[in-house]
Amino acid sequence: MFEAVIGLEVHLHLKTRTKMFCGCPADPFGAPPNAHVCPVCLGLPGALPVPNRKAVEYGLRLALALGAEVPDRLVFHRKNYFYPDLPKNYQISQYDLPLGRGGALPLEGRQVRIRRLHLEEDAGKSLHLEGRTLLDLNRAGSPLIELVTEPDLRTPEEARLFLQRIQALVQTLGISDASPEEGKLRADVNISLRRPGEPLGTKVEVKNLNSFKGVQRALEYEIRRQTELLRRGERVKQATLGFEEGSGKTYPMRTKEEEADYRYFPEPDLPPVPVPRAWLAEVRAGLPELPWAKEERYRALGIKEKDAEALAYAPALSRFLDQALSFGLASPQALANWLLVDLVGLLNERGLALEATRLTPLAFARLVALFERGEITSRVAKGLLPELLEGQDPEALVRARGLGVVADEEALRRLVEEVIAAMPEAAESVRQGKIKALDALLGQVMRKTQGQARPDLVRRLLREALGVG
Ligand SMILES: [Zn+2]
Repeated sequence: MFEAVIGLEVHLHLKTRTKMFCGCPADPFGAPPNAHVCPVCLGLPGALPVPNRKAVEYGLRLALALGAEVPDRLVFHRKNYFYPDLPKNYQISQYDLPLGRGGALPLEGRQVRIRRLHLEEDAGKSLHLEGRTLLDLNRAGSPLIELVTEPDLRTPEEARLFLQRIQALVQTLGISDASPEEGKLRADVNISLRRPGEPLGTKVEVKNLNSFKGVQRALEYEIRRQTELLRRGERVKQATLGFEEGSGKTYPMRTKEEEADYRYFPEPDLPPVPVPRAWLAEVRAGLPELPWAKEERYRALGIKEKDAEALAYAPALSRFLDQALSFGLASPQALANWLLVDLVGLLNERGLALEATRLTPLAFARLVALFERGEITSRVAKGLLPELLEGQDPEALVRARGLGVVADEEALRRLVEEVIAAMPEAAESVRQGKIKALDALLGQVMRKTQGQARPDLVRRLLREALGVG
């Protein structure tokens, strides 16, 4: 059997207001073509780049969060290559003094090592229309971070999970939306196969993957393809591949440039950017709680492992949960359950984002508390959630509609007798030991109370009335 050895190169679009080296707006999403350009990002002769301090700071945030080593000065290099949407014919990137080296991301109990992180500018976009090629340079010069891992990943699922973790991390850090559908998170993967314990095999690179699913499928395809080659005794050829979503297959793209082809040299228009340790300390002090620390904290609060993990790596949900927790009204696990199952389920069903609703963490915590205190049933609580999304108050709804739990045993006992009299066959079945038939009677009582009785109480009263223990 073969083992896959996988490494990733991730490109993240930084959400600075302006581009990496000029004052044009950095978010090209939705703007008309070539609306956000100037002499610098068009690469006109004589135009001089100026580094974006915010982009450097955002980069430092990620480097520090991952535990990478940051040098005391950053040097920008020119990476020379010709491409139609690269107006200068070179990209300003980093080479031997990158933003960060080393560090790691925790994943399923182990550490995926980071080789390096660097800052660079994005290229524009070519649009191929009816045999013509059009250029949109809005994206040219937008700030990017490239993050390169060591080949520490072993399965396609792990590679997908790593990317989702990076996405959650940079969203938590507030430095990138990292939305693959907007091209703000793109990945190249490299993969080779070997028998466990043997030296690394020949690797191929699959470039420009822009969805989590695409990454996983491209790797799955390559594992199948390379396994077949190796089984037949053939060799895997080193190659740069593309991936076609439709067929789920990879295809050869171009011969890979060797590093020497890029003729890296220090960017003569940009002096090195000093990174004083005091700045670094300031950035470190401003880091928010990181997802893996959040996960620990949730577990310490008694939230189940799986739930703690799911919440810690979902920035919008964990922000909401933290506020809901702060009121001390409902237990952490109950809040987690209602958040992950009922609320997320409802939001998915309606295609809504939590932030787009009028539900406040306080109203949510109060609803869960009403249920936890036994004042409303779970059915009533679920039924109220859609109205809470519209900004309604849970207590007011319960009062106005008389939705409080029917806990009056005498009233319930009368209802139980009524239902038994109305459903003699089901009652007889229960008496003869077919306890399953109790569900029909229970359902009928619950209907008569509009779901407001506690099912465990009704079940006990039914059993008593029918004389079954
Ligand atoms: Zn510009």
